[in-house]
Amino acid sequence: MPLATLKKVLAAADARQALCLGFVCQGWEDSRAYVRAGEAAGAPVILSAGPGARANMPVSLWGELFRELAKGATVPVVAHLDHGRTLEECVSAIEAGFSSVMIDGSALALDENIALTNAVTQAARKFGVSVEAEVGQVGYEDGAPSEGTTLVEAQTFAAQTQIDALAISVGNLHLQTKDRARIDWQRLAEIEAVTSVPLVLHGGSGILPEDRLRLAREHRVRKLNVGTELRMRFGSTIRATLEADPALFDRTTILTKAEPALAALAQDLLTQSWGQ
Ligand SMILES: [Zn+2]
Repeated sequence: MPLATLKKVLAAADARQALCLGFVCQGWEDSRAYVRAGEAAGAPVILSAGPGARANMPVSLWGELFRELAKGATVPVVAHLDHGRTLEECVSAIEAGFSSVMIDGSALALDENIALTNAVTQAARKFGVSVEAEVGQVGYEDGAPSEGTTLVEAQTFAAQTQIDALAISVGNLHLQTKDRARIDWQRLAEIEAVTSVPLVLHGGSGILPEDRLRLAREHRVRKLNVGTELRMRFGSTIRATLEADPALFDRTTILTKAEPALAALAQDLLTQSWGQ
């Protein structure tokens, strides 16, 4: 089927009090595994090209890759730009055929973040492309610290923008290799009370499975980004494959051998988040 917008899949998630997963993609094999996982779980799939992916492969090729996968898929597939930092970066993704872009102005002052987000939304609307933005800062494990989203920021930002999804910082952290994020449930509930837009948490790999369910069932979080735990599975499977067969040398053979394990983990995560 053709690409779906983020807006559409988040509305479907809302109707069933579920979470969509935003998969951090690094190439063809992992992206293909995520779409297969979505088909097996009967859940929509958000394929995300983040800054690292775009540093390694041009955004135009990511657009082609995601569209090709969506075309043959039996479930909705979203082509999503993750952490676009400028209007130009978002426009490049829109031109490359993405159905959703994230503009991350979270490092800017609130009024500048709002102005940048509105410029991106205006550009995206013409093409029916969804927009995710971020207010407050989600930090990195062993890197930049978080700045929790405040109520005033969330309320002001939501009131002065027309975005389809809002990423917030409530204890979640990027690149966590163990699930040890401590969600600030009180802050989350307060943010929900002063906004109506679907909420997004980045750093999903650090969030306990039971907390993921609670985010969906008791709260308005509709998208969770997951990357680290899947990249760890991909890496460990490749390591085991090479150790088991030291004569292996072909790139395609090595990478495709890791796909079933990656798809199995992604399917488990999707089943938990989307429900049966
Ligand atoms: Zn992120």
